[in-house]
This record gives sequence, structure tokens and C-alpha cells, in this order.
Amino acid sequence: MRIGLFGGSFDPPHLGHLALARQARDQLGLDELRWVPAGDPWQKADRQLAPARHRLAMVRALTAGEPRMRVDDVETRRAGPSYTIDTVHALHAERPGATLVLVIGQDQYARLPTWHRWRELVDAVTLAVAARGGAQVQPPDELAPLAHRVEVLAMPPVAVSSTAARAAAAAGADLRALVGGAVARYIARHALYRGAPPPPHRRS
Ligand code: ATP
Repeated sequence: MRIGLFGGSFDPPHLGHLALARQARDQLGLDELRWVPAGDPWQKADRQLAPARHRLAMVRALTAGEPRMRVDDVETRRAGPSYTIDTVHALHAERPGATLVLVIGQDQYARLPTWHRWRELVDAVTLAVAARGGAQVQPPDELAPLAHRVEVLAMPPVAVSSTAARAAAAAGADLRALVGGAVARYIARHALYRGAPPPPHRRS
């Protein structure tokens, strides 16, 4: 059994995420590709995320009808920072003997040595990495000399980010080309990413 683990803040999930998830599932012949929205992404502590229930619902909307994909709320139920190594151990306990494939973009591969207990993590999983934003798949200096299992995902670049989707939502733009119809409708219905609320009205 080969299980793909695809973590992220998914704030919101977008068509770049979906392309990456599909490529990993199909190219690597995964039995299951599991999306794991982070509860408290400690590397993005400078920014307030949309509530976990919305991010989970948007990932469900984006992946509805996709074969061999499921959404896992393990990290949003866990208190404290979301560390991938904890999720990997939980998944190993749930599916003993399964091969775990950690699906990431090149930006995260480059940052991997900043992750919590990253050496233990690369020993425990196979990495599946896609190019992103013009950067080809390349290990960071700390990782290059270490033996680790890595598969390169052959994916045409998709120039979309959650940052761009949030900015487009705040500007009231059509989001469908960034996040697809279902997620765009969800964002509109729940008025997400509209920017900071206006200051309270003051009488002078
Ligand atoms: P933000 O713009 O808020 O930083 P993001 O678009 O990078 O968010 P994340 O939820 O942080 O989205 O990404 C989750 C995972 O998906 C990461 O491993 C990231 O590298 C990967 N990823 C995101 N967008 C793309 C893309 N367009 N192409 C390839 N990989 C991507």
C-alpha cells in the first residue's frame, strides 16, 4: 500500500494544489492521496488563517469526485503546532507497513531543513517533489549529501498560489481560474478573504 501525504495550509486550496495531487496519485500509482490541512502552520505564524472548518470544506469541495483522494482532519484536531513528523507517525500507526510518500512543491523541498525533526522525517518517507514558480526540483544544500528517497513529479508549472487567490478575493475578482468553480462559490458564500474589517464607525 502506497499512501501520499499532502499537507499545506490550503488557505484556500487552488488548482496548483489539485494538479500536484493528481500528478502524484497517477505518476506514483498511489493507492490513496491524503490531503492534510494544517491546524496551526507554525511556519506561517505571521498571518491569521481562515478557520480550519472552512479550509477543510474547501479541500473537500476541490477534490469531490476525485478517485483515491481523501481529506484528513488529523492536524486540525491536534492541539499545538502542526508538525508533519507527528502526522507521519500517526499514519504509520494507522496503516502499519504502508509506504508513505510526502508530496511537496520545490519551495517546501528547499525549506525542508527548517522543518521540525526533518532528518527523522526524510528517513521515514519517500519525497515526491514538483517544480514550482520556475524553480526546478533541486535538493537544498543540507539535504543533497544525505541519502534520501525522492521522486520528481513531471508536472507542467501551474502559476497559482493561495496568496494570489486571497488577493483576488479581496479585490472582488473572479476566482474560478485560480481555485475552480466549487471553491470560488464557497469563498463567495462565506465571504472569505474580504480583507480586514473596516474600523468601527465613530461619531465626531
Ligand atoms: P501561500 O501562497 O499562502 O504561501 P501556497 O499556495 O504555497 O500558499 P500551501 O498550502 O502553502 O499553498 O502549499 C501546500 C503545498 O503545495 C506545498 O508543498 C507547496 O509547495 C505546494 N504547492 C502550492 N502551490 C503549488 C503550485 N502552484 N505548484 C506546485 N506546488 C504547489
